[in-house]
Amino acid sequence: MQLYNLKHPSQQVNFSQAVTLGLGKDRGLFFPSEIPVLKNMDELLAMDFVPRCKVVLGAWLADELGQEVVDKLVDKAFNFELPLVKVNDKLSSLELFHGPTLAFKDFGARFMAQCVSHLAGDNKLTILTATSGDTGAAVADAFYGLENVNVMVLFPKGKISELQEKMFTTLGDNIHTVAVESDFDACQAMVKQAFDDPEVRDGLHLNSANSINISRLLAQVCYYFEAVAQFYREHQQAPVVSVPSGNFGNLTAGLFAKAMGLPIKHFVAATNSNDTVPRYLQSGSWQANPTVATMSNAMDVSEPSNWPRVEAICQQLDWPLSLISGVKVDEATTSCSLKQLEAQGYLSEPHAAIAAQGLEQVMAEGDKGIFLATAHPAKFKDVVDRELARDLPLPPELEAVANKESLAVPLEADFEQLKAHMFKLLA
Ligand SMILES: *Cc1c(COP(=O)(O)O)cnc(C)c1O
Repeated sequence: MQLYNLKHPSQQVNFSQAVTLGLGKDRGLFFPSEIPVLKNMDELLAMDFVPRCKVVLGAWLADELGQEVVDKLVDKAFNFELPLVKVNDKLSSLELFHGPTLAFKDFGARFMAQCVSHLAGDNKLTILTATSGDTGAAVADAFYGLENVNVMVLFPKGKISELQEKMFTTLGDNIHTVAVESDFDACQAMVKQAFDDPEVRDGLHLNSANSINISRLLAQVCYYFEAVAQFYREHQQAPVVSVPSGNFGNLTAGLFAKAMGLPIKHFVAATNSNDTVPRYLQSGSWQANPTVATMSNAMDVSEPSNWPRVEAICQQLDWPLSLISGVKVDEATTSCSLKQLEAQGYLSEPHAAIAAQGLEQVMAEGDKGIFLATAHPAKFKDVVDRELARDLPLPPELEAVANKESLAVPLEADFEQLKAHMFKLLA
């Protein structure tokens, strides 16, 4: 697989290099020089999920890694259900939250972890990352127990919910966590300092494994195939697909799937009040406002980092940007959507409710649609309990961690302390 840097097209790398580097020169995103097209779509859609993932990812990676390695990575990464649940005659929900940390980020993170560990071989790597919530849990869980990778996650002490914190601070083994006595920005600044410090970067073989990593996006392509496969068992038409969007990695993966030949009629990019993209699709002018806090806080992003990839796909395939409808859903409408879904017997959470609402607004007469449900309702228990006047039980995955002891080490927001701590633990 060959990729190029969207900011400096002369920088060309293979998949292994793109995974290891994360970003290219000037923080440019890596983008595939060619998107493979799959034939025999009917046959492919008739396959089971895991064997189909091997074909889909093999089309990108087999030339570089070998199909046997691709098969091994898929077997280790994809080991949970993703049901398409019918809400009504027109609307179905693809539930992507049945992984170990109950969020769709498990898909990307688990495959990335397997790729990073495979590529590291006999070298020992350190993944260093800062989190303000969900990503830390998905990444920590995905790397947990991998022998050649240590993970260090920084988070702002007391600034994330106790349950969220426990999802990654109770693992132990190769997962090290630090509670920084400051805010998320300070955590990010310390991570950046570590990457800028040659002693730490080279001495501990740092790798960022962040959300723009190409291995995550390729993994996410797979669930679009599963969505359409399940949809086709009931409907003989291409669906409209609605994606609750923050950094737009999820939508990027959907566009890759369509470019590979998957029949998807139209996309909805549904956002909360952080609506840079819906406004851009309307007006053609990119105007990012300051980020505002919403109920769907995993989508509180006003400068989505994957957007250049969305544009690059449309350009490469000569698709008009009107293939994507942008819909902004404000807080009051999110709340209405949650209640409407509940009234139809479907318990949801704010991110999926926004996607469902976007679909309702965009679907034309005769269309049928799928919205992506990206988190388990219990992960947003506070909001769901409040909006729907409920008291959701904790699923067993959350119940189990709620009773465990946090292993996080408290540190001040001081890089030298972090550095000493890292060398003590990891060198
Ligand atoms: C990260 C996240 C999103 C946004 O996905 P992007 O790929 O960043 O657009 C939506 N919902 C949930 C629950 C998330 O954690």
